[in-house]
Amino acid sequence: MATSMAEHHAMRLAHAEAHAALHGLSLTPLRRQVYAAIVASERPVGAYELLDALKPQRGRVPPTTVYRALDFLLAHGFVHRIESKNAYVACCEVGVPHCSQFLICDGCGATVEIPGDGLAEQLSHSPPAHGFEVHRQVVELSGLCALCARASRSSASASASA
Ligand SMILES: [Zn+2]
Ligand SMILES: [Zn+2]
Repeated sequence: MATSMAEHHAMRLAHAEAHAALHGLSLTPLRRQVYAAIVASERPVGAYELLDALKPQRGRVPPTTVYRALDFLLAHGFVHRIESKNAYVACCEVGVPHCSQFLICDGCGATVEIPGDGLAEQLSHSPPAHGFEVHRQVVELSGLCALCARASRSSASASASA
């Protein structure tokens, strides 16, 4: 039986909480709410969208408070920052240190994380970069997700046949 979206989100939250408990990381109610809002979004979420998402539960939260919660979530690998969007996505492998590549759909904004250190290793071993230590890697590919690509192909063929 397929798990529903809500169950899937609940599982990710439970996993993050277990990870936090295991490593003595304090997932305060605010940090948890920020994380839950990012998990619930299919697209990268910006800080101001997070402020809006928190309003029903918390009222007006100062932006610095949200930024501090985001810094915590980033530093401990709960979320990644999508540089090109100035926004955040939930990590698909909390608790496993990794580099990631991101596929970002220009149509609907859906963002897929592809974890893997292979690309960073390959780059640092390539002759021009030889010996370079990668400390931070940002690889963001823009394009169309499968759904948007199909939709754009079918609208293109519809207009071609019209
Ligand atoms: Zn990740
Ligand atoms: Zn799309």
